[in-house]
Amino acid sequence: MSRHARATIHLDALRHNLAVARGCAPQSNLMAVLKANAYGHGLLPVAHTLADDVEAFAVSCLEEALPLREAGLNHRVVLLEGFFEADEIPVFAARRLDAVIHQPWQIQALAEADIKDPIDCWLKVDTGMGRLGFLPDEASAAAEQLAALKCVGQIRWMTHLAEADEPESPSTAQQMAKFGELIAAPAQSTAANSAGTLHWRETHADWVRPGIMLFGASPFAVPEPHAPLQPVMRLEARLISVKQLPKGHGVGYGGRFVCPEEMPVGIVSIGYGDGYPRHAPDGTPVQINGHTASLIGKVSMDMIAIDLRGIPQPAVGDLVILWGDQPSANVIADHCGTISYELFCRLTPRVQRVYRNGAMHGQS
Ligand SMILES: *Cc1c(COP(=O)(O)O)cnc(C)c1O
Repeated sequence: MSRHARATIHLDALRHNLAVARGCAPQSNLMAVLKANAYGHGLLPVAHTLADDVEAFAVSCLEEALPLREAGLNHRVVLLEGFFEADEIPVFAARRLDAVIHQPWQIQALAEADIKDPIDCWLKVDTGMGRLGFLPDEASAAAEQLAALKCVGQIRWMTHLAEADEPESPSTAQQMAKFGELIAAPAQSTAANSAGTLHWRETHADWVRPGIMLFGASPFAVPEPHAPLQPVMRLEARLISVKQLPKGHGVGYGGRFVCPEEMPVGIVSIGYGDGYPRHAPDGTPVQINGHTASLIGKVSMDMIAIDLRGIPQPAVGDLVILWGDQPSANVIADHCGTISYELFCRLTPRVQRVYRNGAMHGQS
């Protein structure tokens, strides 16, 4: 038996979640955000699965954009931070990549660029996120400068929502008010991430930019019941050891867990070297043979230990689900003080990705 630390990626679930996003914002174009290797799910398999039903892809850098072109995908591809250096500009032009423009130097660099094909640009406005973008009172001047450049094609407007995952927060409405003041028809605009797409109709505008929801994890602490998402990734490993430990025996580095009685302990073939969160506390759930068991002791690089009390007849080779349907990535993220996004992105290349067409149910 070879080491089993595997992410099965359920492409039907991906298609289902895309349909949910479409249903939430039926009037808008859809830009699927596939940065960071499609949130750890694998850029090209995900892009090919979504290709027929999205208007654009968004990524972070040329290293993520060029593989899409090389795979023959001719969609609009938006680079969310634009070019990082002026010498990338000719590649944007040659490969017809869209640049987000958020700093004055980028406008200057475009003015000096010697390119034949114009680049479509997305002018980023900082309406409250405090990250990338021109402040609202600088944005109109930046738009005029861009519009005056021969090498700039269409100009669209973009902003990013800071608190759309908090349904009670007034911030989204405030950001949209600032954004709306700047945009004169017929210019197109985009504001909505997954949380905006799911919850805030007034943010949908011409383009929505869902990321995490496509992978079936909710950006909200309490998922939106009207838009049931299906988890796309199931992270699984196997039991490689089952044994009884006596009362008082420690488990793992530092003996963080001490057996309160004689008990069966399982060792599972996954650890922080695979991207399982090292900070997972005792009690973080896993699923084994349809039952929930708890992580005990510190996470090692290659292994974790689980409490097998109450699990009927556990055996070496049994499949253990770290996240997927049950437990969900959101539940694991809550236990570990992080978000599903980070769990997905931090999976290492050592985890084999296996692509399935069916949706996820039961044991494989
Ligand atoms: C990552 C990202 C998104 C997608 O966000 P989700 O919360 O994953 O939907 C949208 N827009 C920008 C600018 C981003 O960086």
